[in-house]
Amino acid sequence: MNDNLKPSSKTLHAPNSNRKQGAAITPGPVFSSTFHTHGMPENAPYQYGRFHHPTWEHLESKLGELEGGETVIFPSGMGAIASVLTTILESGDTVIMPNDGYYPSRAYVEQFLIRYGIKMRLSATTDMANISFTDVKLVFIESPSNPMLDVCDISDICAKAHKAGALVAIDNTTATILGQNPLNLGADFSIASDTKALNGHSDMLFGHVASRHTDAINRIRDWRKLSGNIPGPMETWLVDRGLQTLDVRLERQVKNAHKIAEFLVSHTAVKSLRYPGLKDDPSHELASKQMTHFGFIVTFDLGGTEAADHFMANLKMITDATSFGGTHTIAERRKRWGTDDIPDGTIRLSAGIEHIDDILRDIDQALDKL
Ligand SMILES: *Cc1c(COP(=O)(O)O)cnc(C)c1O
Repeated sequence: MNDNLKPSSKTLHAPNSNRKQGAAITPGPVFSSTFHTHGMPENAPYQYGRFHHPTWEHLESKLGELEGGETVIFPSGMGAIASVLTTILESGDTVIMPNDGYYPSRAYVEQFLIRYGIKMRLSATTDMANISFTDVKLVFIESPSNPMLDVCDISDICAKAHKAGALVAIDNTTATILGQNPLNLGADFSIASDTKALNGHSDMLFGHVASRHTDAINRIRDWRKLSGNIPGPMETWLVDRGLQTLDVRLERQVKNAHKIAEFLVSHTAVKSLRYPGLKDDPSHELASKQMTHFGFIVTFDLGGTEAADHFMANLKMITDATSFGGTHTIAERRKRWGTDDIPDGTIRLSAGIEHIDDILRDIDQALDKL
């Protein structure tokens, strides 16, 4: 029934929703760890909460429709990323990771998978389409990359990787499934941290993986079951509630981000700025080709630690916090974590849904005092 719906409508209507007289429009979370199981367990649709859960199915079916592939949910984005890396890679395999993407993804390979004989090669996001994929098992990309918003040509990379016999996984967190459809662009795995814009209310962590490879997705589901990396019913239900407003939130956030970028790009205190929506941004052309919006993150350099720290301290409404994609506008001096190879004065700002006048006034007064 969902085939003809636009993606924004698919965030609301589950493919097999119960439309019988009196059925709940929003099926609530089921708080049960165990289920009536008479006789042979395979005759019961649910048996134990680590194997299957009715609350998971509702969200997984919706996300599956949006992604265009079977979807498995996780209690965090890293849970979803680890499920793909751990189930696909074997001893002797090589994985290519972005050296400018979300740091914990490559840290997981470094700290845990290399011990099992897996080899990692690093590449910048903008070089990904030009490197050799010979003898590579998995190419892991992130586009737009966090925090510098570089974009790579997803369908080109997928075509080249597949020709060389490699699989491609994409971290689609910054774009979200409404901003970019990785499986339609040729990727084997679409992964997201739903902690960010998909849930969008900065009140929980969550993640998911989608794929059209049935064997791989079954292995990922087995890994979830056997590693115990399972989401709770309350979080699952709340993420479904967040998903219902993803499209309207994005509309406001993307518009706000664009206006923030336009305001900052000509400001004398700003040394450089990245926003894929600006015509002369290096990501603009590719982003226009493969994305439906330019995102809600603006990354800019104030020229040094001192200026950036002062700017953050001067802000009155915008919150100094890590993460992004929520309803509140938040920002941080990204280098304070020490994990990204970026200028010291880099600010990563995530546009929220506040009135644009309030956001710009706050940024303006904070820059004025530098
Ligand atoms: C936050 C983030 C993750 C990790 O997600 P968690 O939900 O914090 O585990 C992965 N990738 C990107 C791009 C992120 O921003």
